[in-house]
Amino acid sequence: MVNRIGISTRLESVDFHAVGISSESEHNPFRITQQQLDQAAELLKLDPAIHEMLRWPLRELHVTLPVKMDDGSTRVFQGFRVQYNDARGPTKGGIRFHPDETIDTVRALAAWMTWKCALVDIPLGGGKGGVICDPRRMSQGELERLSRAYIRQVGRFLGMYNDIPAPDVNTNSQVMAWMVDEFAFMRGHNEFGMITGKPLALGGSVGRDDATGRGVSIVVAEAAKKLGLKLDGARMVVQGYGNVGSNSAVLLADMGCRLVAVADESGAWANPKGIDAHALQAYVRKNNGLAKGFAGLGDPIAKEEALEVPCEILVPAALENQITEKNAARIKPRILAEGANGPTTPDADPILYDNGVYVIPDFMCNAGGVTVSYFESVQNAYSFYWDLPTVHERLQSKMTAAFHAVDEMAGKFKVHNRLAAYLVAVNRVAEAMRLRGWA
Ligand code: NAD
Repeated sequence: MVNRIGISTRLESVDFHAVGISSESEHNPFRITQQQLDQAAELLKLDPAIHEMLRWPLRELHVTLPVKMDDGSTRVFQGFRVQYNDARGPTKGGIRFHPDETIDTVRALAAWMTWKCALVDIPLGGGKGGVICDPRRMSQGELERLSRAYIRQVGRFLGMYNDIPAPDVNTNSQVMAWMVDEFAFMRGHNEFGMITGKPLALGGSVGRDDATGRGVSIVVAEAAKKLGLKLDGARMVVQGYGNVGSNSAVLLADMGCRLVAVADESGAWANPKGIDAHALQAYVRKNNGLAKGFAGLGDPIAKEEALEVPCEILVPAALENQITEKNAARIKPRILAEGANGPTTPDADPILYDNGVYVIPDFMCNAGGVTVSYFESVQNAYSFYWDLPTVHERLQSKMTAAFHAVDEMAGKFKVHNRLAAYLVAVNRVAEAMRLRGWA
């Protein structure tokens, strides 16, 4: 393809129109989040105008990003930024680089960010961003130019009082560093609080790396207390041994849990005697993120079997739509701690509940990451940095309060935790909208 000024270009995803169209697939994540909201709205007897506003993003931006590639060509990428709701404060949410990114995934994740921030009661709304690209096929230089191009297009809508991105799938602290730098050029001054998940040398927060896994371990400990389950000796299974999965496993192992099965992209293994969670994390960090090859994994099993290995605590921490109506009947942990976003489909929920599984829903379970991201922007705002025990203590307090708010709501409305979490979060966002006079 040749553009107007005659430079040869390649489109990363030629079908630009399809990008903006909602997929009607059974597990379209945006449809799922709308359905979950609808249930909560009915129980809360939400004002119809507020309900309708909450079903859709307030704003979304579709951007086209020309990037000079190493071979001298220009490739054109498609990106998004969705600002779902900012009634409670600036929107906040990660930026994903992924070949299969869709606007509906970004909308759904932005909605979940809205509920997540409200649930842990931090003064932020929800947002999300994404670029359709395959970072594994790009050089560091190409990734840097793509990151800067994204900020040049989206930057005018970002800022610590507007919208604060963070790392997400396939983006990391280096990408955040390029982005904060490009933003500084646009504004003419440093504004470290405009993005979180930055390296420590650029205003990052201590304790951000393992914050999501730490949050998972905190709510699992609260759930175990409530259920009278002893963590010492409890069997756990972890799907996905990346940031969330491995940190959850390590911290739960420190509380006495025994890792009896693990799965990642490279395979799945069961070992009733227990897998050393710490040693496996060190191995994975050294070996391209994959568990395969670690001594002490135990017997290989089929990947889909991992979720069905008998255990007290199951932590899905990989992908969405892993627990569906097809396998839910065979998944019977005492506690299902949803480290990943959207690991359970709505049709699986009732099956889990009927089997007595105590579900800690995703946007409560994995809220530790955004909580410490919020701590990071607070520290940036007053340019004074906390020590690790302070971060841990404040994270513990936010996660524990969220757990008890959901537990109380579940008791009050006699509903399961997922709906209870929606009731708490939607109610808080709706209250802010009412007070601001939006309906
Ligand atoms: P990551 O890339 O660090 O790890 C993902 C893990 O999943 C890897 O071990 C990978 O091998 C594994 N995996 C991929 N495909 C798999 C498959 N088919 N079967 C089994 N395992 C597979 O990602 P992460 O940051 O740990 O995120 C995991 C999940 O948690 C995602 O849903 C993400 O949105 C969610 N989440 C992450 C954070 C965070 O702070 N990192 C915060 C909130 C939610």
